[in-house]
Amino acid sequence: MKKCKKCGAIQDNTHNKCIECGQPLNAQLTKEEEVNVKAGMSEEMLKLYNKKDYFYISRLDRITALLLMADAILYVMLLITRKEFLMEKGFIPITTVLIIIILMQAIGLLFPKVSWAVYKMRLMFQIDDPQNLSPSTTVVFMKRFMVYAVLVGTYIFIIYLYLQN
Ligand SMILES: [Zn+2]
Repeated sequence: MKKCKKCGAIQDNTHNKCIECGQPLNAQLTKEEEVNVKAGMSEEMLKLYNKKDYFYISRLDRITALLLMADAILYVMLLITRKEFLMEKGFIPITTVLIIIILMQAIGLLFPKVSWAVYKMRLMFQIDDPQNLSPSTTVVFMKRFMVYAVLVGTYIFIIYLYLQN
């Protein structure tokens, strides 16, 4: 268990940087300190700590989800205001697909339990009992990677589309 000096967030030992504020973390707490921290934590907080990071929604996640939703709104507005231009270029299908992809990333950030349930559903056909699985660090990394790839990629594309006449 590690405690952030800056914001006080409690997290597990696998982290070198605070999951909440990005502050570099020092050595893990001693057994004694851990007992004290746990005693001071509410039951809710303890539940949160015990959950895998996949299910933890940080402030950055909420901001990113907002940016994704703004992104989706820009695409919807483009569909409404520049429909003829998009039809001419054959961009209607890709614009629609991008809106769905962007919204799915936002839902994944704000409702990680839903996205994990979907992930497990996909595994149903390959694995006998996917219910008891928990997300690996690779899955956690891939989720973040996808979110930022979609965010950056779709913003560049929408700027390109708005600059066209
Ligand atoms: Zn922190």
